[in-house]
Amino acid sequence: MTFLDRPWCARCGTPFSYPAFEDMECPACLARPPAFSKARSAFVYDAASRPLVLGLKHAGRTDALAAYGRWMARAGAEILTGADALIPVPLHPGRLRKRRFNQSLLLARALSKASGVAIAPHALARVRDTSTQGGLSAKSRARNVAGAFRVRERRRSEVEGKRLVIVDDVHTTGATLSACARALKRAGAEDVTAITLARVVKPVDPLK
Ligand SMILES: [Zn+2]
Repeated sequence: MTFLDRPWCARCGTPFSYPAFEDMECPACLARPPAFSKARSAFVYDAASRPLVLGLKHAGRTDALAAYGRWMARAGAEILTGADALIPVPLHPGRLRKRRFNQSLLLARALSKASGVAIAPHALARVRDTSTQGGLSAKSRARNVAGAFRVRERRRSEVEGKRLVIVDDVHTTGATLSACARALKRAGAEDVTAITLARVVKPVDPLK
């Protein structure tokens, strides 16, 4: 398992393979700033960690959740300081019926236990089922999830003026996290960040 640590992009948390200043951002964030102000992940999504992530998602393997919560709390320490609530990425109701649990909510509960930050599990709703993101390009993913999330009107007070942390299992292109962040900001969130268990990492070449 490859745990993520500094130096990393101050914004999206992608690791740098070279020394960097604390507030340095990666070329991708500079070219197209994501809708969240910061994202951090516990470890790299690779051959070693994939079984853990898939075990949680498809088999509901919860035995390691306490450790996941601690790892996410460590990776996202600077984000969690001063955060008002954790927002698990919601599943579409149809998908939730089939799977019976939301792995993002399980992770948010574990992170809440480890960090003491409360969860607002009902603030955000998935109004479209966009669960098949696999195999799509970054652009197609962004188009696929655009407008898929909405803040519930009666839960607006849980979002307005708040510093919120989106919680998900894997940060791939950031399209889902950005779509959630946009919905939360439209509803008046003061700041939106993200913490995920795993992160798909593409090497960053400083010369490009
Ligand atoms: Zn970045």
